[in-house]
Amino acid sequence: MADNEPLPYLSISDRVKDTVRRSMCAWHYADFQYFHETIGEFGNRMNEEWIGRHAHLLVFFPIPPHKVGKNNWNQFKSWLEYGLGSKVKDLCLPWVYYGISTINGCDDCKEASIYVPDPHAADVIEISSDVSENTMETTVETSED
Ligand SMILES: [Zn+2]
Repeated sequence: MADNEPLPYLSISDRVKDTVRRSMCAWHYADFQYFHETIGEFGNRMNEEWIGRHAHLLVFFPIPPHKVGKNNWNQFKSWLEYGLGSKVKDLCLPWVYYGISTINGCDDCKEASIYVPDPHAADVIEISSDVSENTMETTVETSED
């Protein structure tokens, strides 16, 4: 296999699943029953969609080695709430709450959600940069009406 071989093709639901699995501890991933129950339906709905929406999802659920951090969950939540992701909002809002609660409540999940860049790598990734000790009290339950 060549080193520069492109990533294997994954369906959008497999991609999301893979990223979520890498971004929390094994126990909380296994315990994320609602996610396992709804990921298939999520894939069905997204596959009826304009393919451009899939590109949005890769921002929230990035390819390896990047992770779904708290910032990703919050951005995904906005995407669900402000229309573009309205089609899957009912399925996916509970994912957001679960994802953020594991990061807040479980040290292993918190660690798993943070992508630590290789210090020798040149590129700096902004996506997970919100995860610092003093922003942990951020609330996610507020909603504007
Ligand atoms: Zn955990």
